[in-house]
Amino acid sequence: MKIAVFSAKSYDIEFLAHANEKYGYELDYFEVPLNRKTARLAAGADAVCAFVNDKLNAETLQALSELNIGMVALRCAGFNNVDIETAGKLGIRVMRVPAYSPHAVAEHAVALILTLSRKTHKAYNRVRDANFSLERFVGFDLEKKTVGVIGTGKIGQVFAGIMRGFNCNVLAYDPYPDKSLLNNGVRYASLEEVFTTSDIISLHCPLTPETHQLVNKRTLDLMKKGSMLINTSRGKLINTEDVIAALRSKHLGYLGIDVYAEEEKLFFRDLSEHIIDDEQIMQLSTFPNVLITAHQAFLTREALTEIAHTTMENISVYSKKESSRNDVTSEMMA
Ligand code: NAD
Repeated sequence: MKIAVFSAKSYDIEFLAHANEKYGYELDYFEVPLNRKTARLAAGADAVCAFVNDKLNAETLQALSELNIGMVALRCAGFNNVDIETAGKLGIRVMRVPAYSPHAVAEHAVALILTLSRKTHKAYNRVRDANFSLERFVGFDLEKKTVGVIGTGKIGQVFAGIMRGFNCNVLAYDPYPDKSLLNNGVRYASLEEVFTTSDIISLHCPLTPETHQLVNKRTLDLMKKGSMLINTSRGKLINTEDVIAALRSKHLGYLGIDVYAEEEKLFFRDLSEHIIDDEQIMQLSTFPNVLITAHQAFLTREALTEIAHTTMENISVYSKKESSRNDVTSEMMA
C-alpha cells in the first residue's frame, strides 16, 4: 500500500513514521494541502491521508478517483471539509479518527480562558523587558462564574469537568444531552439561556448547516456585557464580522480562538515575511482582549500518537476490506 500524505508537517511525519513501523506502508509526504490542483501528486498511491484544511470537494475527489485512489484517511475527527456524498458516489471510502485526546482540546480551551483572564502572555513579555509593573493586569476569579458549554460530546464533557473543578457553574446546551453530566453538577439549558446567563461561552459542537454562524449579531446581543467567547471547534461557527463589531462596541469582553473562518489560507504555515491579505484576522490581532492560536488545540504528544495509530489502523482496515466504526458516511451528515 502506498499512501500520499498531504499537509504533512514535521510532527505528522514523526508520529506517522513511528506508527507505521507496525504496518510497513509506503508513505509519501507532501507539505502542500490537498486540493483540486495538488491531487495529481497522489498518482501511484492507493490512498490519501488528509487533515482539517485539505479541500476534499467534488473536484478534488473526482481528480483522486481518476488516479484510482480508493480511500481518504482523515487525520482528524471533523469531516466538514469532505464532500461525503460525492466520495460515496465515486466509491472512495472516507475514514476518520473520531476520538484521540479530548483532553488536548479541552485543556487548550482552558488555557485560552486563563491567558485572557490573567494576561500571562503579556506578563511574560513585560518581565522579559524588566517591566515589573502590574498596571492593566487585573483579571478575574473563575470560581462561581457561569460557564456555558455548547456541545457536550467528548471534548465538551472534559471541558465541563475541568470547569467544575474550578468551582464554576456549568450550563450546557446540546440537542442530545448526556445525563451522566448531571451527576457532575452540570445543568442543561436552552441555547438562549446559555447565551444570556454565561460569563464565558465555549463552543464544542461540530460545524454543520445548523451550527454555521451560531454566534452572530443576534446571539452576541444576548450575551452578557463583558463576557468571554472561546472557540476551539471550527471557525465558521462564528460570524467574524459580527464578533469584531461586538468587540469594538465593548459588548464582548474577550475572544479566544484556536480556529478561524478563513484559516485555510493562513494556518499551519509561516507567513511572517508576507503581507497578510485578510483584513479580519489583522483587525482581530490588534485587539488587546483577543487571543488567537493557529489550530493547535490538538497538538499534544498523546493526541498525535493516537491520531497516527488510528490512521494507520484505518488504512489497514481498508486494505483488508473490513468494516469499521471510523467510516464517515452520508447518514452522518444529517
Ligand atoms: P463529538 O461528536 O464527541 O461531540 C459533538 C457534540 O456536539 C455532540 O454531543 C453533538 O450532539 C453536539 N451538537 C451537534 N449539533 C449541535 C448543535 N446544533 N448545538 C449544540 N451541540 C450540538 O465531537 P468532539 O470530539 O467533542 O469534537 C467537537 C468539535 O471539536 C469537532 O467537531 C471539531 O470541530 C472540534 N475539534 C477541534 C480541534 C482543534 O484542534 N481545535 C480538534 C478536535 C476537534
